[in-house]
Formats: sequence, structure tokens, C-alpha cells
Amino acid sequence: MINTSTLVILLLCLLNVVLSKPLSIVILGASGDLAKRKIYPSLLQMYKTKVLPEEFNVIGYARSDLTDEDIKKNIEPFISKEDLSSPFFDHLHYVKGSYNQAQDFINLSEKLTSYEAGVSTDRLFYFSLPSTVFLEVAQNLNKHTRTSSGYNRIVVEKPFGKNTETFKELSEGLNQNFKQEEIYRMDHFLGSSIVKNILQTRFDSKYEKLWDAKHIKAIQVVFKETLDVEGRGGYFDEYGIIRDMVQSHLMQITTLLTMDKPINASDIVNKKIDVLNYIQDLSQQDTVLGQYKGYPEDKSVHNPNTTTDTFASMVLHINSKRWEGVPVLIKVGKGLNKFLFELSVEFMDGEDVRINAGDDSLQYALLIAKILNGDQSSFATEKEIASSWRILESVLKRIDAHTHKPIVYPLGGVGPSESDDLARRYGTKWI
Ligand code: NDP
Repeated sequence: MINTSTLVILLLCLLNVVLSKPLSIVILGASGDLAKRKIYPSLLQMYKTKVLPEEFNVIGYARSDLTDEDIKKNIEPFISKEDLSSPFFDHLHYVKGSYNQAQDFINLSEKLTSYEAGVSTDRLFYFSLPSTVFLEVAQNLNKHTRTSSGYNRIVVEKPFGKNTETFKELSEGLNQNFKQEEIYRMDHFLGSSIVKNILQTRFDSKYEKLWDAKHIKAIQVVFKETLDVEGRGGYFDEYGIIRDMVQSHLMQITTLLTMDKPINASDIVNKKIDVLNYIQDLSQQDTVLGQYKGYPEDKSVHNPNTTTDTFASMVLHINSKRWEGVPVLIKVGKGLNKFLFELSVEFMDGEDVRINAGDDSLQYALLIAKILNGDQSSFATEKEIASSWRILESVLKRIDAHTHKPIVYPLGGVGPSESDDLARRYGTKWI
């Protein structure tokens, strides 16, 4: 675990302004997994390091019949014993309500107003909810729960739709209710230390001038998990590993590795969009899908004949002058032999540069701190997400039509051997 003084320095470094205006944070879906494992514990860390303003309230909102005390109990396994007596818990409230009834949001607004006690206050609404309810929640918040005495910001979590079409619908719906500067699309990998490590490595004086097709033979982005679907089959079975991991997280990592040099931090997003536009649509012959043995029998997976992918390896082609002919290999899977989140850049002269993540326990705290600071540079933009769906679309269509089925692989193995064949075809082997 990271020590508190490092934490203080890290978090405070992030903020250029002192956050003094009172703040209400509403966690919609407060009864759920993400809220208890990540959002509440991150807010606690931010409180401890004085990144939250002095006056703040955290209002959990969901349909479940819970008390303020229940919320505390839910968080308990994810925080230290000493933190249980923190005054942070005096700022927590729970409000029960639906996601589709106007009256419930009017009630939420009244509760917020009473906690805010007439003081001008900013409001942050965290959608810790399945995306199926995002639009009705956005509509209700916009109509009934906005404040006029401070900012209103919303945070939405991936997956951002299921394909180009549903992403467009989702985006349009959110845009009808909130302005771009009010919407933060959370991709927690963008809060990972690997982002800093990528930028440090590739813009290092040794490598910067070698970062192109003349010097690099192949690039790999690998994310392997030993864990299986862990009871989250209800969600996962509908999405699969490409939608869950590649479309968002691994595509972000790929673009950071391959984008042109940005002029400054706010130019990063433009450079990411440029490189995404050069990536060819993924082809079936460049994709290997897998499913670990036993996945359909997981209690949380309700379809015994499921063909959902729990493993994918693929090769992307970037048709830019910089990357012409350099294969970008991505491998991701559940139920594999070891945990590995590593990137490899294989040079023509045989050098193999590896990039890893460090301690990422602060991912969510760092990103929430950026939201409070109004800094959108570490969040996914609409254009990036749309390009990413476009690249994966044809393979996803075949998956949905069951015409590209996964190969069964043993739990605890390295994935289907066809994946090794794919790497071999491009003159390399997996890290
Ligand atoms: P959950 O499935 O735990 O849902 C959160 C809450 O939403 C539930 O407690 C429930 O609250 C409510 N809910 C669940 N299903 C429905 C439904 N069909 N209709 C209406 N309300 C429902 O989700 P997570 O907490 O795991 O994730 C929240 C969001 O974050 C999702 O968008 C997810 O994709 C994303 N995410 C999650 C990660 C994680 O690690 N868990 C990682 C990255 C992203 P109640 O019934 O009390 O109203």
C-alpha cells in the first residue's frame, strides 16, 4: 500500500487551484460494486489528503433499501481499520429512489438543498450504474436536480454503448441534457501509472527519434488476468472481452503509444484522434477469439450455449507514414496463467523495450480530483470512442451473428494456440 505522505504529495500536485467551494457528490448506483470498491474509498483518500473542500456531502442514491450505516458497512472491506473512525463518514448520506421517476429526483434535489443549507454549492453526479439507465437518469437530473449556484458535472463509466449505433444514441442523449464541459467519460486506465511511463519512455531522448517504422518491428499491448468472470457474468456475457477491455482501455493505451508528439497536454487528445483515424478496420483473419473452459457453467452466466469471448488477440495496422508495416498486437484474456499488464516495443536491432504499470491504487482518486479541477485531459472524448468502435465494428458484428466463434482454452493456460500462430505470422512471439 502507498504511504500517506506520498499520497498527499501526489494528489495535491494534481490540483492547481485550491478547492474551497462546497461540493455535493451524488453517487447514483451507490449500492453497487464500483461504488463500494472504488468510488467511496477514493473519496475517503481524497478527504484524508484534503483534496475535497472543507464543506462537502456524499449522497448515495439507488433503489435498494439501505441506511447510511449500510453504506459504511459495504465499504468496510475496502478500507483500513483506522479509517473506519474517520470523520469522513459524517458527510455520508443515503437517499433511496428509482432511476425513472421524476418525483424521486425532485426528492433527491430537496435533500441536496437541505444538506447544502443555503450555501452556494457545486454538484457532481457519478453514474455508477449500468449504461442502460444513463439516459433516463441524465434527463431526470437535468430537469430536476441541477443546481444554479455552482457547476453541474456528470461522470459516466464505460462501456460507452455496445457499438457505433448505440454509442451515438447514448452520446446524443447525454448531449441533450449536459454540455460537453459537464460530461466526463471515465476510462480508469487513463489514471494508471502506465500512461506516465509510456510518455516518459517514448519521449525519452534515446527513443524519441527511433519511434517509427524505420526502427520498430512490432508493438505489443498485453493485459492478462488469472481471474475468471467472478460472478459478473450477467454484465460480461452481454459484452465480451473486446467490448469490455479493447474498445476502451487497450485502445487508449495503443493510441498513447503510437500518436505523434503532442504540442502540450491539451493537444494529446488531437494526436490520439489522428492516429485512430489511420487504424484500419480490424479483420477476421487478424483476430483470434477464445473462451475459457467452464465459462458457460459460471452461475452468473445465464446462457449455457454462450459464445461470448473471454480472450482475444488481434493485430492492428496503422496506415500512417510513421507506422506503415508495423504490426500492433493486442492480447487480452481472463482465466490465464498469470497477471500481466505490459507493453513491448520490439526494435529492428533486437532491443525490446518493456513498459509496465506501477502502483495504481490511486487511479480513481486521481481522476476524480481532475474532475473537481475541471480538467478533461484524462477522459475519453466522443471522437476517440467513435473511432474505436469503427475499428472493431466488423469483428463485433460477426461475434454477434455467431459467425466468428471463440476457441475453448483451458483455465490457467496461455490462451488458444491459434493466438501464437497469429503472432508468428507477423514474425514475432507474445511477451
Ligand atoms: P452494478 O451492476 O453493481 O450496478 C450498480 C447499481 O446499479 C446496482 O447496485 C443497482 O442498484 C443498479 N442496477 C443494477 N442493474 C440495474 C438495472 N438493470 N437497472 C437499473 N439499475 C440497476 O454495476 P457496477 O457497480 O459494477 O458498475 C457501475 C458502472 O461502472 C457500470 O457502468 C459498469 O460498466 C462500470 N464499471 C464498473 C467497474 C467495476 O469494477 N465494477 C469497472 C469499470 C466500469 P439498485 O438496484 O440499488 O438501484
